Amino acid sequence: MTEQFRNLIGGEWREGANTSTNVNPSNTDDVIGQYARATAEDMAAAIAAAKAAFPGWSRSGIMERHGILRRASDEIVSRKEELGRLLSREEGKTLAEGVGEVVRAAQIFDFFAGECLRLAGETVPSARPGLRVDITREPMGVVGLITPWNFPIAIPSWKIAPALAYGNTVVIKPAELVPGCAWALVDILHRAGLPAGVLNLVMGKGSVIGQAMLDSPDVKALSFTGSVATGRRVAEASAKHLRKFQLEMGGKNPMVVVDDADLNVAVEACVNGAFFSTGQRCTASSRLIVTEGIHDRFVEAMTARLKGLKVGDALDPGTHIGPVVDQSQLDQDERYIAIGREEGATLAFGGERLNLATPGFYLQPALFTGATNQMRISREEIFGPVASVIRVRDYDEALATANDTEFGLTAGICTTSLKYAEHFRRNAEAGMIMVNVPTAGVDFHVPFGGSKGSSYGSREQGRYAAEFYTHVKTAYTLP
Ligand code: NAD
Repeated sequence: MTEQFRNLIGGEWREGANTSTNVNPSNTDDVIGQYARATAEDMAAAIAAAKAAFPGWSRSGIMERHGILRRASDEIVSRKEELGRLLSREEGKTLAEGVGEVVRAAQIFDFFAGECLRLAGETVPSARPGLRVDITREPMGVVGLITPWNFPIAIPSWKIAPALAYGNTVVIKPAELVPGCAWALVDILHRAGLPAGVLNLVMGKGSVIGQAMLDSPDVKALSFTGSVATGRRVAEASAKHLRKFQLEMGGKNPMVVVDDADLNVAVEACVNGAFFSTGQRCTASSRLIVTEGIHDRFVEAMTARLKGLKVGDALDPGTHIGPVVDQSQLDQDERYIAIGREEGATLAFGGERLNLATPGFYLQPALFTGATNQMRISREEIFGPVASVIRVRDYDEALATANDTEFGLTAGICTTSLKYAEHFRRNAEAGMIMVNVPTAGVDFHVPFGGSKGSSYGSREQGRYAAEFYTHVKTAYTLP
């Protein structure tokens, strides 16, 4: 019997209208479970439950909030192998990557448990004698969270933890492809002692229940991570309600490699940034912009390194690159590989579908050379293990090429020169800059987010999360 997983609404586990089957992309014969598929009415019930729970939770003591987030962090980390396995099984990143993501989720809850104890305002003298001015951060109310499939536990964690720490109540709608990790996380938080209605989980289709969340005037703040197309819908619907919203969307992140780079450092940063986690990271470096003095050595070393990588079952400890998440993403990756060839780029390595022992969505990492920054493969987010090498004359052309994109999430440079590193840090148009490290891979306690078309609104994570999950109140008192 396949296990059944229900929605959490108002503190009760409730069936949906029907269910969806969660399958393993490494082996489509392996069914993880049947997950409830909610209706728009279920979403309305969850929002109503969160609204009813808000007055109590917003006034809850800091020790209660701290204790719940701490207990959740402890349980997540104590179950890191099991949850990492679940994550790799439903999303397809390798077991090491899955366990790493689970540990990160625990660290996020640990950080925000601490933030509960550091909530503070300011008291300042008034311009008018005798008056006192108190400036406090207040919770927003019911917060709606919509998350994508590629970080099934980290992204729900980095939204849920600050939302709860600052006194909001929550409705989360995880991506339909990966409900397992979100369910496990919500189960942990529920058992850690959250009062009924404070955290609600509604699983199902974005076009039905996601849209119902967008259309509800009772959702006072909405944090979204996903594609640009859905992000626009969030923005439009939120504008109608004059609701606070935050969008984290796509990327076409550049990694610049200049002549003076340490070749080994550059190849490791580019292989990791472009291809690990199957290239399915918003922070992936899909444009490798390489100056001509190092170009040929770089391409040769990259190709040799890629030949040594094993694509396989995410749960196999020998695997370096797991499968693509599903058939439609695989189709998209293959479509872009065909487009790259038609546009005149050279497929220097990979790009072939692999038939392995189990039925899964396996694709060899694909490296294009001879690409230009005007090609579609250099401008549109592919979201797979596909990267292009763009050859440029010098650092100045590299920087201009890096910035010639509508996105601005991360940007990296490999160099041994302080002059280039500092100039790039100041002039690259992105929210996160990486020097001699992959464009993907960020810490849990500092702000995360992009510029230009990649992000909208205030930053996520670290203390900057308070900007989104609170509003500022200024109170004047004549004692
Ligand atoms: P997606 O936009 O298809 O889906 C994201 C979420 O939105 C899902 O939960 C989905 O069900 C929901 N949704 C879909 N239609 C909706 C609607 N009409 N109303 C409300 N919700 C709706 O994105 P995806 O394919 O799950 O994720 C991949 C994308 O996410 C990529 O573009 C990637 O770059 C981006 N991403 C960005 C970041 C970041 O922090 N910048 C992080 C991870 C992923």
